[in-house]
Amino acid sequence: MNDLYFDQIIIGGGIFGIYTALHLASRRMSVLLIEKDARLFQRASAINQARLHGGYHYPRSIATARIAQELQLRFVNDHRSMINQHFKQFYAVDKSGSFTTPDQFMAFCHYLNIPLKEVAAPSYFKAQQMEALFLTEEYSFDCTQLSEYYQARILQSQDIVIHTNTMIKAVSRSGTEWQLQLQNQSTKQIYEVCTRSVINATYSGINAINRLFGLENLDITHELAEVVLAISSVKNVGLTIIDGDFSSFMPYGHGDLVSLSSVRYTSHYGSSQQDPTFPCQQRISACTPVNCLACNNCVAKPDSNQSKMMHQIGKYLSSDFKFQYLRSMYTIKSKLKSSYIDDSRPTLVKMLNQTPAFHCIFGGKISSIYEIENYFNA
Ligand SMILES: Cc1cc2nc3c(=O)[nH]c(=O)nc-3n(C[C@H](O)[C@H](O)[C@H](O)COP(=O)(O)OP(=O)(O)OC[C@H]3O[C@@H](n4cnc5c(N)ncnc54)[C@H](O)[C@@H]3O)c2cc1C
Repeated sequence: MNDLYFDQIIIGGGIFGIYTALHLASRRMSVLLIEKDARLFQRASAINQARLHGGYHYPRSIATARIAQELQLRFVNDHRSMINQHFKQFYAVDKSGSFTTPDQFMAFCHYLNIPLKEVAAPSYFKAQQMEALFLTEEYSFDCTQLSEYYQARILQSQDIVIHTNTMIKAVSRSGTEWQLQLQNQSTKQIYEVCTRSVINATYSGINAINRLFGLENLDITHELAEVVLAISSVKNVGLTIIDGDFSSFMPYGHGDLVSLSSVRYTSHYGSSQQDPTFPCQQRISACTPVNCLACNNCVAKPDSNQSKMMHQIGKYLSSDFKFQYLRSMYTIKSKLKSSYIDDSRPTLVKMLNQTPAFHCIFGGKISSIYEIENYFNA
């Protein structure tokens, strides 16, 4: 492999960048994967609610629900040991304020053939708060195991070179090639690489990279999100209240923890700018909208909303159901602006320049990694 030329240069070492690298390397292409953090898999791919979506979450977007349901099966088959399938995952419709009625929810699930059973509330729930309760077939993936699995796979590949701790300083075009000036953030060493094809898989950083290549922004919004981890007194149970300003908890991969999230309290700050722009960046000069540092270990991250989240979900739980707060994880969550109305989560894979090629991948859900294959095989 030539040290300077790569068939594909992928920017972003989350699950989408890594899966793309593995897919393209399996087609005998040389790949350079560039990641600005010191390690791969540290941002949204590691910090999320770990819900392997079965479609239930999206009664207002048939397209998102259908894709989630289709991809769930393959994701389970490919990652079986990394998936917790041994818990009861309930969905409930609140007595008031839901955008979806029980009949609509059932009709939606039946239409998509998503398994669903209406059940009486077990004693650990407050039945009087629920219009209806359903038992579903939805699972949780283990983020730590997924991270270890994908990092091991990518390290084994002879055709993939990984440069962590690396930022792109400058970009130029020469005929059919992109020339990238890279800098190692520790050694400050600057060097050049070139390619005929760049793939931008930087999620919340996607627009900063698009612009660096002189290309258009995606229409996205960002939020600084918190996922709460706790120990629950009732084991192997998850509950999601749909559909509106509600909340959920569910087992977090394997192990004893549950993750809590809430439409109202998971997001601390919102940003509708092209790049994530939050008030906490004013306290950390190195953290800017075009180069956000990792929120999880940041001293300027907001105080936890854990008690508000527990209070909100507590409305549906009997008094012997207790959570013991453990810790919170923070990261940036980005969404397409078009998702605002129907709460959809499509994965966008798009060519923004033909020669030299430039593609961007904006991942909606973890299990949508397979959509990359359809795109690059087409
Ligand atoms: C709070 C939260 C909860 C979620 N819950 C779920 C869930 O329950 N189930 C589900 O399926 N999905 C969930 N998601 C969505 C899912 O996590 C994302 O769709 C997925 O992780 C996106 O993967 P990615 O590889 O595109 O992004 P990331 O994992 O964020 O990877 C992008 C990488 O690009 C790197 N990068 C950024 N800018 C640059 C740059 N300039 N140069 C080099 N590298 C750069 C970053 O450091 C990072 O490593 C959730 C997301 C969040 C944030």
